[in-house]
Amino acid sequence: MIARAAGPRNRGRSGLARGRGFPEDVGVTDAAPSPTALADRCVQCGLCLPTCPTYRLAGLEAESPRGRIALIRGIDGGALVPTAAVEAHLDACLGCRRCEAVCPAGVEYGALLTAARTRQRVRRPPGVRQRLVEALTARPRLLSGLLTVYREAWPLLPRAARPLPRPPAAADAPASAATPPAADAEAALFVGCVSRGYDAALHAAVRRLCAAAGIALHAPAAQTCCGTLHAHAGDADRAAALAEANRRAFAGHALVLGLASGCHAALADSLAGRAAVRDAIDVLAERVERLRFAPRGERIALHLPCTQRNVVRSDGALRRLLARVPGLDVVELDAGFGCCGAAGTAMLTDPDRAAGFRQPLLDQLAGSGASVLLSANIGCRLHLANGTDVPVRHPLEFLAECLP
Ligand code: SF4
Ligand code: SF4
Repeated sequence: MIARAAGPRNRGRSGLARGRGFPEDVGVTDAAPSPTALADRCVQCGLCLPTCPTYRLAGLEAESPRGRIALIRGIDGGALVPTAAVEAHLDACLGCRRCEAVCPAGVEYGALLTAARTRQRVRRPPGVRQRLVEALTARPRLLSGLLTVYREAWPLLPRAARPLPRPPAAADAPASAATPPAADAEAALFVGCVSRGYDAALHAAVRRLCAAAGIALHAPAAQTCCGTLHAHAGDADRAAALAEANRRAFAGHALVLGLASGCHAALADSLAGRAAVRDAIDVLAERVERLRFAPRGERIALHLPCTQRNVVRSDGALRRLLARVPGLDVVELDAGFGCCGAAGTAMLTDPDRAAGFRQPLLDQLAGSGASVLLSANIGCRLHLANGTDVPVRHPLEFLAECLP
């Protein structure tokens, strides 16, 4: 049984920048519109305001999508001085794109935010913690090694010095799977950056599910971070370099499967015209007739990340997969402001605020009686897991356990 339903639209474009210098060109392609051009599509109807987590929290126009669009247009046109207070309103945006999903005028808010933050980075360089996160995620192997050290040190650290949950013992890049005997399709698996240190079990689980569904899975070793958090923080050059590295790594693969909804749009932009990037959940749901699940008489909680609902839109496919598990009782978490607060690097750079957005979800989880919490985005999963003792896992890891 699955309670509740939702399903906003997706307009696809991530706004990931791909090169060139700034400030004039702000790191976007020749065809990319300016912040003003993107902002001018807003007709100021206000329909997005009730969906915006930061507006619901603060009740201020400047903390709403419409308010931020006005600020960006004002700065870009020179009519508004970007004071510290103005910059703070742009900083506070979670990038959840809930506003974009409901906008009747087709405002590409994700692209607008990326363009605005690229210019913001020229005005005001990022802090040390932000730079550190960007540098480490751009070096997944080094990050994976540091997470191994973090795992060993974790029991000795005070609570305040644990920005992420303890990584599991087995942490390494996934090996390519042997071709399953009945395979009639093949795909490459996108692993990303921090997932290397946390998701070895998930990668093995996806290989089992794909084998059962007739998909031979490869994992190109040279792949790297998708660059989402770099682009969203305005580092267009680093995002472009990571995109180019992934284009080389996935050359020759027609289908690339993603496991983190937050990485999807950037990776799809990077590989556009070369490979189809799809959520593994969607692809497995299309082959659900080949999957058999053993009964699981338990209650589980489901968190649907903003990017899964608003960008990838694999929430319906996930519900269909979970509904195939006999006896499973699924409770969808929908408490609070609609966003868990992880928001890329925000859970690391502003942990108290991120925890405030998370708490209503954790309260609902605690009252649900669920044995496990499922979430399909690595950032959300780490952020949620750092606030609860209930196991937090990717839905495909859970579904692989349900295979007979
Ligand atoms: S819904 Fe779209 S057009 Fe209306 S205020 Fe929000 S961004 Fe502007
Ligand atoms: S992306 Fe999310 S937090 Fe930012 S303005 Fe839109 S709805 Fe609000």
